Amino acid sequence: MSITCNSIKMTDKNGDLNFLGQEARQWRDVPKDPITYVSNEETVFLFGGLTILQDKLIQSALRSLGENFIALPNPDFKSFQTGKAFGNRGQCNPTYFTVGNLVKYLQNLRDTTGLSNKEIVAKYVYVTAGGCGPCRFGMYITEYKKALHDAGFDGFRITSFEHDKGIFQGEDEAKQLLNFSPKFFITLIKAVIIGDIINILGYRMRPYEIEAGAVDKAIEVCRLRISQAFEDKKNLTKTLWSCRDILSAVKLNRLQPKAKVLVMGEFWAAMTEGDGNYNLHKFLEAEGAECIPQPIMNRLMLSIWEAERKLQKQENLTKETDKKIDFTNTKSRLLLVLAKTAVKTYFTLYAKAIGLHAYEIPNMQKLATLAKTYYTLDCEGGEGHLEVAHLIESVKENLSHLTISVKPFGCMPSSAVSDGVQSLVTNRFPSANFLSIETSGEGAANFYSRVQMALFKAKQSAKEEFEALDIPTHIPEKAHNYLYQPHNKKTGTAARVLESLV
Ligand code: SF4
Repeated sequence: MSITCNSIKMTDKNGDLNFLGQEARQWRDVPKDPITYVSNEETVFLFGGLTILQDKLIQSALRSLGENFIALPNPDFKSFQTGKAFGNRGQCNPTYFTVGNLVKYLQNLRDTTGLSNKEIVAKYVYVTAGGCGPCRFGMYITEYKKALHDAGFDGFRITSFEHDKGIFQGEDEAKQLLNFSPKFFITLIKAVIIGDIINILGYRMRPYEIEAGAVDKAIEVCRLRISQAFEDKKNLTKTLWSCRDILSAVKLNRLQPKAKVLVMGEFWAAMTEGDGNYNLHKFLEAEGAECIPQPIMNRLMLSIWEAERKLQKQENLTKETDKKIDFTNTKSRLLLVLAKTAVKTYFTLYAKAIGLHAYEIPNMQKLATLAKTYYTLDCEGGEGHLEVAHLIESVKENLSHLTISVKPFGCMPSSAVSDGVQSLVTNRFPSANFLSIETSGEGAANFYSRVQMALFKAKQSAKEEFEALDIPTHIPEKAHNYLYQPHNKKTGTAARVLESLV
């Protein structure tokens, strides 16, 4: 018996059969018959998979470059089921959600527009991030192609830019379809960063809103304004500054003690805002908690840090073996410094403009130092050492009352490796309130009940922290404005605000 990409082969005297008794054939990425695709100008590019806000901002940002981009809807349970129906067995659940989401979109497109499968294949392209993942991430493109083939969209084009190469993409099919120029990536990064900033503010404000839904409404007004600014090529900093009035108009009561919950874990599972993690963020807010989300910028900074580390190792090897200095390394290092500076500069500029203060851009070197005793820094799958680092940082710096690590079912780096290490970390840091939880796409009741149990303790800690402080006779109005962001040793927002007033 041997294992191929998409089936288990059994060999008997009649030849190779799969487990259904059908003839097993080698998987080929290329379509069976030649396909005539429409011209680049007529091509429609589909993408998706980040937060809802970021997907919408990216759509406007990339349209401003003259490309016809459409953001897919947020993956839901139906996407997961579609992914399971057409995907390989034994995948991690982000694969099922994202692959199924694309198949579901194309099926809807066919059923609602009357376009045939053939016409859809000729006209649409899906753009995604790819790379040589030591985990399943490295096989995503083949997964997409396999599911699309089985769903009747053989030859549908999937194009990827390598997430760890950023603006330094190779010469391949992807570049022929899309202009992966520095301008493309800078525009993309701007949209991602603005989305991160607004998401962080939204999570800070929503638990304290007096009128339910007011924060989301204000954010939607800001989003439309920023999208328009992208499309009209207007000044983004000024636009973000103009959003301050919209957000300041939302009435908040920030003196309610709420448990602060750091949500981290595998990149997609921790970041998605839907069935992919059972709507974890919404559930936590409904249960009276404030979430600290993981910005996408974390992933960007980790990729840059990993690339810098590789270069450093190559340079050390060159010195040890007395080889000649490789000047391409010097150029790569310079480009990495430029990329890091660009991310930090845009983040600082835009955060200041819209009023996100007291936010520290993730310091990858500091996080690596925290984690290295427990997790080898050379292990790059998924979030690598970051999950361990986040937990240690949260305990040492009193950042949250509870840390939840979300891991997709079947994820090797997050479930098998990080969680094994976390038991040692929680042993060394007994004050950690830590919950590691798997998302399989099914079994929501068990998931929610475990979150509720961990949250109970966190809520008590938040209440005790708040009640230990004296309440001043006069509370200034600024205490309830999102722009007032005091920084002190307290964890909860209410305790922090109160501490700053006494
Ligand atoms: S990190 Fe885990 S969930 Fe994410 S792609 Fe890799 S195996 Fe899948």
